[in-house]
Amino acid sequence: MVNWRRLLRMSNRSFLAFIFFFSMSTTCLYFIYVAPGIANTYFFMVQAQGIMLRDNVRTIGQMIRLYTNKNSTVNGTDYPDGSNSSEYLVQPTTYLPENFTYAQNLPCPERLPSMKGLLDVNMTEIPMEEIELKFSKFFDIEFGGHWKPKDCRPRWKVAILIPFRNRHEHLPILFQHLIPMLQRQRLQFAFYVIEQSGSQPFNRAMLFNVGFLEAMKDLNWDCLIFHDVDHIPENDRNYYGCGQMPRHFAAKLDKYMYILPYSEFFGGVSGLTVEQFRKINGFPNAFWGWGGEDDDLWNRVHYAGLNVTRPEGEIGKYKSIPHHHRGEVQFLGRYKLLRYSKERQHLDGLNNLHYSPHISLSNLYKNITVDLYPELAPIRDY
Ligand code: BGC
Repeated sequence: MVNWRRLLRMSNRSFLAFIFFFSMSTTCLYFIYVAPGIANTYFFMVQAQGIMLRDNVRTIGQMIRLYTNKNSTVNGTDYPDGSNSSEYLVQPTTYLPENFTYAQNLPCPERLPSMKGLLDVNMTEIPMEEIELKFSKFFDIEFGGHWKPKDCRPRWKVAILIPFRNRHEHLPILFQHLIPMLQRQRLQFAFYVIEQSGSQPFNRAMLFNVGFLEAMKDLNWDCLIFHDVDHIPENDRNYYGCGQMPRHFAAKLDKYMYILPYSEFFGGVSGLTVEQFRKINGFPNAFWGWGGEDDDLWNRVHYAGLNVTRPEGEIGKYKSIPHHHRGEVQFLGRYKLLRYSKERQHLDGLNNLHYSPHISLSNLYKNITVDLYPELAPIRDY
C-alpha cells in the first residue's frame, strides 16, 4: 500500500492537519454547492425553532400576567397583545351545507361542502400505472390529464405546471393527492409536466415559462399554478383558483416546521392569473441551479404593483417528499441577479425565450421535454 505520509515527507502532525483541513473544505464545498437546500433547510429549521421558543415564552408570560393581574381587561375573547390574531381565530364556517344544489349554468362556488379540510397525506411510493388506471377509470380524467366539473360552470380554468427532472417516483404521489382535491374544488384543470433534458443545471423558472407558453396553445387557461413535484397539500380548503393578486399557496412547509421562513418567501407552490403572469413578463430565465428564481418572482410581482396573498392558518400546510437533490447544484450567482431584478424584469422572461420542445401525451398529463441552455434566452446588458 502507498504510504502517502512518507511519500510527501510530512510529519505525523502536518499529515493529520492536512487530512483535517482537506475534509473540512470538501464538506463545506459539498454543503455550499452540491447539497443545495440542505444547509438552507437546517438554517430555517433552527430559525423556526427560535421563533417557536420565543412565541411559547411570550404566551406563558401572557398567561401569567392574565392570572396575576386582577384589573386585566383581557376577557375570554380578547387576543393576547402582540400576537398574530389570525392564528387564534376559529376558521369561519362559511362553507356551503352538504345539501347545496349545483346548477350547470352557474359558476361553481369557492367554498364547497366537499372541501373538508385536513387531508391524509400518504408518501408511500406507488407505480404510475396504478395511479393512471385509477384516475382514468374511476375519476374520469381524460387522456392528457384534463378534467372539468359537469354540475356547475368551473370558476377557473387552471393549468398546473410541474417542472421536472429525475423524480419519477414523486409524480404519482402528487397526482394521488392533487386530483381528488381539485375535483372536490370543482375546478377545470390539466397537468403539464415540463421535463428538462440536457446537461445544464436545473432551471425551474425557465421550465415554468416553457410550460406556460405550451399550455396556452392547448386552451385559453385563466389561472396558472406553479407546483413543485415534491410538495403535497395537507388541506383541501387550499383553493387552487386565482384571485385579484398572485397567491402563495405553500405558506407552511413541514420542513420549515410550518413557519414561513421569511416574509418574501414565494417558493414551492404559487399561482398567478394569465394576465398577471404576462404583466410581470413571466419568470426570469437566468437562474441556473437551485435557488433564487422564486425570490425574483416575488420582486417582479411587487415591481408590477401587485401583492401576494396567502391562505390562513392550517390551510396553507404542505408536506415535502424527502429526497436528495441528485446532483442538482446551487445557483451561487443568484444574489447578484436579485440586486438587479427590476432592471432585468422587462429584458428577461417570456419575451426573450426560444426553445424546441418534444411533446407527448400520457393518461394523466402532457409531457413537454426541453433541452435548456443560456443561449435560448439572450439578454442585452442592463
Ligand atoms: C432561496 C429560495 C428558496 C428559499 C427556501 C432561499 O435562500 O433563494 O429560492 O425557496 O431559500 O428554501
